Amino acid sequence: MTALPPFERHRPATVEEATELFERHGDDAVAYVGGTELFLLFKFGFAEYPHVIDLKAIDELRGIERSNGELRIGAAETHRAIERHPTVRGEWPALAAMERGVGNLRVRTMGSIGGNLCFADPHSDPATFLLAMNGELEARRGGAAARRIALAEFVRGPFENALVDGELLTAVLVPELAARAAIVHRKFVLHERPAITVACHLRLDEPGAPGKRLVDVRLAVGSAGVTAARAAEAEQLLEGASVGELDGVLEGVGELAADAADPVEDANGSVEYKRNLVAVLSRRAVKAAVGEARGGEHGLLAPGES
Ligand SMILES: Cc1cc2nc3c(=O)[nH]c(=O)nc-3n(C[C@H](O)[C@H](O)[C@H](O)COP(=O)(O)OP(=O)(O)OC[C@H]3O[C@@H](n4cnc5c(N)ncnc54)[C@H](O)[C@@H]3O)c2cc1C
Repeated sequence: MTALPPFERHRPATVEEATELFERHGDDAVAYVGGTELFLLFKFGFAEYPHVIDLKAIDELRGIERSNGELRIGAAETHRAIERHPTVRGEWPALAAMERGVGNLRVRTMGSIGGNLCFADPHSDPATFLLAMNGELEARRGGAAARRIALAEFVRGPFENALVDGELLTAVLVPELAARAAIVHRKFVLHERPAITVACHLRLDEPGAPGKRLVDVRLAVGSAGVTAARAAEAEQLLEGASVGELDGVLEGVGELAADAADPVEDANGSVEYKRNLVAVLSRRAVKAAVGEARGGEHGLLAPGES
């Protein structure tokens, strides 16, 4: 690791000012919020920019509030601010729990949710969680209207996002959970960053009926391969399954989730090792989500229980 290279820091107060700075400095400029990713690149000598644009003073990128039935999180809000916010803790507790599991206190205090998603590191908790939650993102260039982008379209690949030149990620939008719905996020960590992330959203179609079925199933797997993905075939197996027959389908769900994760071998382990972890965490996440949707039964269902 080396010392940081010299750069000039700019502190725009609006998206318009930020876009104007990008237009003036072109490829010599880069944005940052917490710098937990960007300044690591600088220190390792992987990147160097003479102009660094600090987004923290832009009000449009701040704030956490409920608006039109969804949660709007300013892109510059830190993991720590999200995890501690009363509205998130009270009404989106699974989001608060996911954020509480990110990195360590230093990373959560400095790092922003927008920086996490823009960097598009394959090892991301928010990307997997938001994929299962049907989260959306809001992006805007100075002088233009904001556009909404589904998470699945925003993360284009490893370290690649869908922003165009001069455009900033302004907010993350998280829908409310419907009645009898739940989302559960599970992860396995090696070497500080997540090695496997799994998130399961589902809803039970009827209250209290013995044959109640799983609907709106969304299973996302991430951190094992090059980008987070929905496990569509596993979702199909689960969609419409009755709670009583869950154990019978879970074996197949694990295998199909491992296929969708498409793990790559790296410092976190072999393909086979990661496939096994994805399968186990997927089965656990589905069971836990069913327990939550039934009314806070976090435990596992007994065999044959409906
Ligand atoms: C030790 C360690 C452990 C970690 N553990 C985890 C973990 O367990 N789970 C996890 O998910 N992540 C983990 N991370 C990653 C962490 O979440 C991210 O580092 C952090 O959220 C990035 O936010 P930042 O504000 O610091 O980004 P920055 O470093 O400031 O920016 C990152 C990139 O995004 C761009 N950018 C930032 N904000 C915007 C914006 N609003 N619009 C356009 N472009 C923007 C920047 O130009 C830069 O390219 C870990 C990181 C470290 C160092």
